[in-house]
Amino acid sequence: MPSQTFDIAIIGAGPSGSACALALRNSGLSVVIVDKEIFPRDKVCGDAVPGMAFKAMDHLGHDWGKTMRDFSEKTEINSTEAFLPNGKSIKRNWSGYSYNCKRIDLDNFLLQLVKTNTSTTILENNRVVNATINNEFVELTLLDGKLLKASVIIGCDGANSVIARQLGNFDFRGDHLATAVRCYFRDVEGLKKGVNEVHFFKELMPGYFWIFPLENGWSNVGYGIFADKTGKNKETINLREVMQKIISEFPSIAPRFQNAELIGGYKGFALPLGTRKNQISGERFMLCGDAAALINPVGGNGIDNAMWSGILAAEQAIRCFSDADFSANYMRNFDKTVYKKLGRQLFYSTCLMRIFQRFPSLVNKMSSVVQYQTFTKYFMKFFKI
Ligand SMILES: Cc1cc2nc3c(=O)[nH]c(=O)nc-3n(C[C@H](O)[C@H](O)[C@H](O)COP(=O)(O)OP(=O)(O)OC[C@H]3O[C@@H](n4cnc5c(N)ncnc54)[C@H](O)[C@@H]3O)c2cc1C
Repeated sequence: MPSQTFDIAIIGAGPSGSACALALRNSGLSVVIVDKEIFPRDKVCGDAVPGMAFKAMDHLGHDWGKTMRDFSEKTEINSTEAFLPNGKSIKRNWSGYSYNCKRIDLDNFLLQLVKTNTSTTILENNRVVNATINNEFVELTLLDGKLLKASVIIGCDGANSVIARQLGNFDFRGDHLATAVRCYFRDVEGLKKGVNEVHFFKELMPGYFWIFPLENGWSNVGYGIFADKTGKNKETINLREVMQKIISEFPSIAPRFQNAELIGGYKGFALPLGTRKNQISGERFMLCGDAAALINPVGGNGIDNAMWSGILAAEQAIRCFSDADFSANYMRNFDKTVYKKLGRQLFYSTCLMRIFQRFPSLVNKMSSVVQYQTFTKYFMKFFKI
């Protein structure tokens, strides 16, 4: 079958892929973005869009940061309230602008920006099944048999990335991976305007349950924990059963769900955590977002890091073309810029996560610690709570 040739192929049109395509808009390079789904499509997530995601859009110019802040399908959020196992709670205001928005809407909005502002070729409903690197190009095979050639490919294809599996050299197993289940409810009682809730329960550590309010009386409700707690041979936890138990039996939660209606079903998904520095590039390829395991292990936020890594990949790709260098060695600049931008935040969050993992009861001490202003500021800045 004859192949189509592009300068750059982006695999995946989530936040990392769309941000990458937007960042390439004035590069003069031919770009294709391939996604296995047809947009709008759902993505299992907490739907909390972190402040740094808006900053990524500001960085792209064109008033896109403002356009994203003005997006109508949003519920503005200004604080997070954490409910601790000892019955106390801590509420802290966020310093930056933020909102909750269903990913089906957010990701479609971002891809629409790509469609209307760039000349990117967009192939939806087609999955990349194979990627092979040759001396001169990368060849991609799609599910329908189509072949694409590109000088550079950017793997933005999420937690189950085929590009990371075939070209990368790290895995996300053990406690570098979390897993979570999410569902939508209508009419959960006791929600506070502008507040995301996170609940820690002694018997369910180290994991947490969340309720994030959305538009029209909906809430995003979920529970997440390290994946090694859900593996076949360990102390197995069935996330769906845990969620149902919390919602129907836990005294602080169950009464609030008595009149709530479940919309759709329970959906689970993996969260590759940014708990260590991985090699996220090689000859002619880069990995972004979840494909590069960049989720903050404490906040669970990955939309912002996905967008920033997409932008940094675009900037590296432009440098590759201007210097005519696609070698693995040259690509390492991408790893450096990503970890320079995100590494500090991920490192401190990982340290905090390891402390809570080892000493789960310490989570109760958060209420005393956050009374100290300076510490709180430091804590919130780095751990995005
Ligand atoms: C339960 C849960 C809750 C979360 N809550 C939050 C939260 O509240 N806030 C936050 O910031 N982050 C949250 N995250 C993390 C966040 O969802 C991810 O970090 C973010 O979606 C990563 O973006 P991405 O572009 O890298 O990948 P994705 O958003 O996963 O996009 C990948 C895209 O690639 C496509 N694709 C996959 N494979 C192929 C293929 N072979 N060929 C073609 N296309 C392919 C997919 O269809 C998809 O559109 C949560 C994650 C989970 C699982």
